[in-house]
Amino acid sequence: LYNALVRTAVVLFTRDLRLHDQPALAGAAATSEAVVPLFVLDDGLVRRIESPNRLTFLLESLADLRSSLRERGGDLVVRRGDAVAETLRLAQAVGADSVFVGRGSSSYAQRRQDRLGRECDRLRLALRVVNTTTVVAPGALATAERDHYRIFTPYWRRWREAYGPRPVPPPERVHLPGGGLEPGELPPASALTRESTSPALPRGGERAARARLDRWLTDGLPCYGRPGATLSRGPTSRLSPYLHFGCVSPVELAARVRHRRSGGGEEFLRQLAWRDFYEQLLAANPATPHEDLRPRGRSWAEDEEALARWAEGRTGYPIVDAGMRQLTHEGWLPNRARLIVASFLTKTLSLDWRSGAAVFARLLVDGDVACNVGNWQWMAGTGVDTRPNRVLNPVRQAKRFDPEGEYVRRYVPELAQLDGASVHEPCRSPSLLVPPEYPEPLGRPDGVDAAA
Ligand SMILES: Cc1cc2nc3c(=O)[nH]c(=O)nc-3n(C[C@H](O)[C@H](O)[C@H](O)COP(=O)(O)OP(=O)(O)OC[C@H]3O[C@@H](n4cnc5c(N)ncnc54)[C@H](O)[C@@H]3O)c2cc1C
Repeated sequence: LYNALVRTAVVLFTRDLRLHDQPALAGAAATSEAVVPLFVLDDGLVRRIESPNRLTFLLESLADLRSSLRERGGDLVVRRGDAVAETLRLAQAVGADSVFVGRGSSSYAQRRQDRLGRECDRLRLALRVVNTTTVVAPGALATAERDHYRIFTPYWRRWREAYGPRPVPPPERVHLPGGGLEPGELPPASALTRESTSPALPRGGERAARARLDRWLTDGLPCYGRPGATLSRGPTSRLSPYLHFGCVSPVELAARVRHRRSGGGEEFLRQLAWRDFYEQLLAANPATPHEDLRPRGRSWAEDEEALARWAEGRTGYPIVDAGMRQLTHEGWLPNRARLIVASFLTKTLSLDWRSGAAVFARLLVDGDVACNVGNWQWMAGTGVDTRPNRVLNPVRQAKRFDPEGEYVRRYVPELAQLDGASVHEPCRSPSLLVPPEYPEPLGRPDGVDAAA
């Protein structure tokens, strides 16, 4: 059916759902006459995602990728089942001689890659594993003692010198092999999950990512990282879900901000370096989603009710409740709010970071094993924080990062009667202004207000 004389490559898309700066796709197009873009809705992956928000965002991103590929004469072939088996089945069916795939860092992705490598060897297919997800690939920077970094500042210094890959342009045309390829259906999210999504979820896909990026480079970047940002008006990019699914390339982002080092560019590069830092930490320590990176012998309290009140935003600390309700409503939270709610769970309530990370993983549309686990362990004091006893006092944090109380009133509307910063301490306000359904505070907020 297919022409055996035409060099054909299969590109297995994973967390790199884009055409711009997609080195796996570009590599395939440069070495082969025909290219088959493939995404496998792996049953194991769908089970692992366990998040209606991320599944919906993923399916929107796939639909967008398919439509962009079709505009260029190609298509996105969609299969369901085991990613390795489906890739090989397709490669054999189209007579491919190579398979291109982006490198993954989680234990799941590493196992998939190892299996794919063994099977490609067996079938004499060339497997090309390329870095599509970070600016600096995991393992590229090592210390004198280890094959990875555990302290951010020296990593960041090396990262700044090391980074520099250039974005590759999107292909003008994508040539599928002749012979009539069945593209496969993209199922609706409702076929994969029965739960509903957060009502204010961003839209997935490369088009939405690029529109947001262009807007933010003009409106957000010039003030990014300036002192005085608050929870309600922080000029952050909100690109995290697009970075997670690879709808936008971190290499392209770095290239586009690197010339603007004065107006926020340097600070933004630092955040991209944090992302790479956690990715290389996970790649080298794949057990950390379950195990402490630095066990410190802490015992965690067991209190299902406190965990449920935290997750539902009913702790009686308005700033914590606002954060958790924003997370439920939007599937996203600003970094400062993530820090406050994570400190509250692990340091004030002494609950295990794993239970907090699981709630985040279910709700966050940007939920990412490396970033989520790395940051939770950092806040819990079991990870890479050089000051593991750091505690964020929620009331002091609230007064500093929500000085007018706008953020809390937006997400905890039952406290709307409280003016200005008084909204952060309802117990000090006249009881007439606080509705009886707003809960009494849980736990005791110790803690110094260290800059984190
Ligand atoms: C407890 C906790 C859990 C977190 N879980 C996740 C997660 O699952 N997925 C996720 O993408 N981020 C996570 N973060 C990091 C960070 O909060 C988000 O990346 C950021 O808030 C996303 O918003 P933004 O895109 O507007 O960020 P911007 O400020 O615009 O930053 C640009 C990009 O840099 C990266 N970045 C920024 N801060 C961090 C950081 N602290 N660690 C790693 N990368 C960073 C993100 O990719 C982000 O999109 C977590 C932070 C905490 C404290």
